[in-house]
Amino acid sequence: MHKHIRSTEGRIFLPSVAFFVYSCMIESDSDISERNDDTEMEQIYDVIILGAGPAGLSAGLYAGRSRLSTLIIERGIPGGQIMNTNEIENYPGQMLSGETGFTLIGRMQAQAEQFGAVITTDTIVEVTLDGDIKALKGTKGTYHARHLIIATGARPRPIGCKNEEAFVGRGISYCATCDANFFRGLDVYVAGGGDAAVEEALFLTRFARKVTVIHRRDTLRAVGSIQEEAFANPKMAFLWDSVVEEVYGDEVLSGMWIKNVKTGERTRIEPAEGDATFGLFGFIGNEPNSGLFEGILKRDDQGYILTDENMCTCVPGVYAAGDVRAKSLRQVVTAVSDGAVAAMQAAKDEQGI
Ligand SMILES: Cc1cc2nc3c(=O)[nH]c(=O)nc-3n(C[C@H](O)[C@H](O)[C@H](O)COP(=O)(O)OP(=O)(O)OC[C@H]3O[C@@H](n4cnc5c(N)ncnc54)[C@H](O)[C@@H]3O)c2cc1C
Repeated sequence: MHKHIRSTEGRIFLPSVAFFVYSCMIESDSDISERNDDTEMEQIYDVIILGAGPAGLSAGLYAGRSRLSTLIIERGIPGGQIMNTNEIENYPGQMLSGETGFTLIGRMQAQAEQFGAVITTDTIVEVTLDGDIKALKGTKGTYHARHLIIATGARPRPIGCKNEEAFVGRGISYCATCDANFFRGLDVYVAGGGDAAVEEALFLTRFARKVTVIHRRDTLRAVGSIQEEAFANPKMAFLWDSVVEEVYGDEVLSGMWIKNVKTGERTRIEPAEGDATFGLFGFIGNEPNSGLFEGILKRDDQGYILTDENMCTCVPGVYAAGDVRAKSLRQVVTAVSDGAVAAMQAAKDEQGI
C-alpha cells in the first residue's frame, strides 16, 4: 500500500482568494425550535413516519401499498443524508452512470406518493408514545397516529477540534456536494478514513487543487476499490496518524493545527501565498437523531434505538428504521429494507395479525 506522507515541516500555501457562503450546517437535536402553535390536527393516521430519508420513503411506499393512511413528516427537504453525495454506486438497481442521491431519492419519493403516502414539512419537538394513539408535537401542530415509524436517521459527527463550530460555513463543511464548488482551485483537507471520507475526497478533487486526507490511523478503512482509486489519483495526498486539533481565522478559516497522534508533533497548516483560506471537510461518522426519544425508548450507549428484527422498539406500536437504529451497516440499501419491514409490521399490528 502506498503512503503519501505530507511534510510536517513549515506551512502549506494556497494561491487564490475566495469568498463563500455555505449551505451545510450540523443541526443537533437541541437546536430544534420549540415554537408550537398547539394546532390539533384532526386526523388520526394509521401510520406516521418521522423522517423522509430512504428509510422513511420506503416505509411510506410499503405502508401506502398496504392501504394504511400514511403521513410522512420531514423537517427539511425529503431525501436525508444521501442528498449530500454526488456519487452513489452501490444501490442495487440504480442507474449505472449518472446516479446521484438527488436522482435516486426523486424516484423513491414519487413512488411513495404514488401509493398514497402524504409528505408534510414540520419539525417534531416532542412525542407522547404511551397509549394506543401516539402524539407528535411539531412546530406547526400536533399529529396523531396508531403507529409511529421513526426514520430520523443520523447527522455528521463533528471533527472534534477546538473552534470548530465557529468556522462551520466559513471554511468547515460536512457536505462535499453542497460546498465543493466554493473551494474551486484551493487546497482542501478531509478528516476521516472510511468509505464516505475517501469517496467525498475523490469527488472534491474535481474542484480543489489538491485534497489531503487527514486520518488518525496509518491505513484507510474504506473498501479496497475506493482505496485503489484514491491512491491512483494524483491530486490526493494523505496525512497519516493525524488529527485536526484546532482551527483558527478571522472571517474565514485561515489556519489549523494538526497533531500526529503517535509522535505528538504539532504542524501548522495555513493558506498558500495569495490565498485567504482553504477548506476542511469532516467525514468521521455519524450520531443518531434520537434525542427526542431519550428516556422513552431503549437506546444503545451511542444513542442508536434498539429494535428487534421486525423493527419493533420497546414501546408497542413504535418502530425504528434506518440509520437511527442500532445495526451493523448504515447504507441506503439497509435503510430501505428496514423501512419496508417496519411498515409491514405496522400493517400486521394494525390488522391484529
Ligand atoms: C456524504 C455521505 C455519502 C454517503 N454515500 C452513500 C453511498 O454511496 N451509498 C449508500 O448506500 N449510503 C451512503 N451514505 C449513507 C446513507 O446516506 C444513509 O445510510 C441513509 O441516508 C440512511 O437513511 P435514513 O432514512 O435512515 O436516514 P437519513 O438519510 O438520515 O434521513 C433522516 C431524515 O429524517 C429527518 N428528521 C430527523 N429528525 C427529524 C425531526 N425531529 N422531525 C422531522 N424530520 C426529522 C431528517 O431531516 C432526514 O431527512 C452516505 C452518507 C453520507 C453522509
